[in-house]
Amino acid sequence: MSLSSPFSEFNGVTIALSKGRIFDDTRPLLAAAGIEPATDPESSRELIIATNRPDVRLVIVRASDVPTYVQYGAADLGVAGLDVLLEHSGEGLYQPLDLQIARCKLMVAVPEGFDYQAAIVRGSRLRVATKYIRSASEHFAAKGMQVDLIKLYGSMELAPLTGLGDAIVDLVSSGGTLKANRLQAVEHIRDISSRLIVNIAAWKLQRERIAPLVEAFKHAVNK
Ligand code: ATP
Ligand code: MG
Repeated sequence: MSLSSPFSEFNGVTIALSKGRIFDDTRPLLAAAGIEPATDPESSRELIIATNRPDVRLVIVRASDVPTYVQYGAADLGVAGLDVLLEHSGEGLYQPLDLQIARCKLMVAVPEGFDYQAAIVRGSRLRVATKYIRSASEHFAAKGMQVDLIKLYGSMELAPLTGLGDAIVDLVSSGGTLKANRLQAVEHIRDISSRLIVNIAAWKLQRERIAPLVEAFKHAVNK
């Protein structure tokens, strides 16, 4: 005998989103596609959110878990920052659309007054704290710099202030957080925005369900 569950029986399209800026910035795009969430994930504790469309639901996951949910087909679609996608293998993911939301820059930052260029010229082996190990290691390798990378999961700004590292690789938008912590950006690694990602198998096998959503997002982005 199998137990029936209202959760596992869902037979429509599941979209994985993270709370905060991704959800906020995706909301207008969802609206343009005719999708209105039934509850607000910021105030509700529900992790599965129904929408006005019985065939579409949202799941709320950590930003860095969005590609994993989509890769394994637990969600058909997702919205993930390029920063997160660059740390993921990209396996099982189709990335049809740059949504141009949650825009920021991946940068190297050091304490104010630290002469980064001089350290490079001297060939100093810098300790760099970051959540973005892959992007950082590719960046420094391309520059021919030997660095020791220290993996963190958040609050990178604290690392140089406590002696954990000489530099950080982090996302910067206004620069306010760097400034508040007396750090300065010294190198721009790349521009970041969020992408629509689609489970490859769902894209192939359920094209008639998913393509109209992708088209609606595309239209909303280009408006
Ligand atoms: P978690 O809080 O679960 O550890 P997170 O801190 O990465 O995850 P958010 O801060 O909501 O989650 O960031 C989600 C995404 O938004 C990031 O992956 C990035 O693409 C983008 N983002 C992060 N910081 C900024 C920023 N300062 N300005 C614009 N976009 C940003
Ligand atoms: Mg954050």
